[in-house]
Amino acid sequence: MRHGYLIDMDGVLCRGREMIPGADAFIRALRQAHIPFLLLTNNSQRSRRDIATMLQRIGIPVLEEHIFTSAIATARFLARMKPGGTAYVIGEGGLTTALHINGFAIVDHAPDFVVVGEGRTVSYEQLEQAVSFVTAGARLIATNLDPNCPTESGLRPGCGAIVALLEKATGRQAFSVGKPSPVMLRAARKELNLRTEETCIIGDTMATDILGGVQLGFHSILVLSGSTRAEDLEQYAFCPDFVVDSVADLVEPLLRQPDTPLWRSLSVSSPAIPSGSQVQSGGTALPSVQKQAIS
Ligand SMILES: [Mg+2]
Repeated sequence: MRHGYLIDMDGVLCRGREMIPGADAFIRALRQAHIPFLLLTNNSQRSRRDIATMLQRIGIPVLEEHIFTSAIATARFLARMKPGGTAYVIGEGGLTTALHINGFAIVDHAPDFVVVGEGRTVSYEQLEQAVSFVTAGARLIATNLDPNCPTESGLRPGCGAIVALLEKATGRQAFSVGKPSPVMLRAARKELNLRTEETCIIGDTMATDILGGVQLGFHSILVLSGSTRAEDLEQYAFCPDFVVDSVADLVEPLLRQPDTPLWRSLSVSSPAIPSGSQVQSGGTALPSVQKQAIS
């Protein structure tokens, strides 16, 4: 059966600039078997090439074409909404490059859209400009609504935090393109020429990766190598199809049966658990996730 994967990056393949053990073998196994995949990130800061280079440097063998960011999804979405449009951008190179590639001009006067991405250089003047443009009628677009980003030394404010400030100041609600928005996830699936039932999302965050996958009807695998612990699952009224410790657990099934989708090989090797989620190898057995969350 044809099958392909949308794979979150941070917390799944890497933590900051550190590879999660097994990520290299996992990507190598996918490439060897010619299985289509894209690495997804909500971070709009860097371009495809920058991200591919960073991953190669830490030992993960990917190409530029394997990367799909919220900046790319946002730029393509806006190009469909208004071909040849204009944008005032709070963000960095990854976002402005993607907008240019998709025929947008970056302006600082009377823009069609105010587009907000990640960045470390945002100033009060930029926020003030953005507020005045949105008040004057520009549409407010967020590359993503992640409230913060993990760093080596803790957390820094994410795109969602800046967007919240602009929403509060203008009384307008932003439209967000990044995960869990179906706009980004559907665009990624289409880029791989996959149908919904052939697509599986692998992520470490319930509220973005798994929620988006569940909403779009993708198969889903939660890894516990990032932001979610097994016991956190009880808080959610939805659950992934499978829970594994990390992508290292997916290498062996892929090498053994490269033509079999992971959701099939994982169901054979693990008996079903009543909650709907199936836990692999070292993963802690989950209590009845859905029942507990709903009751
Ligand atoms: Mg993640």
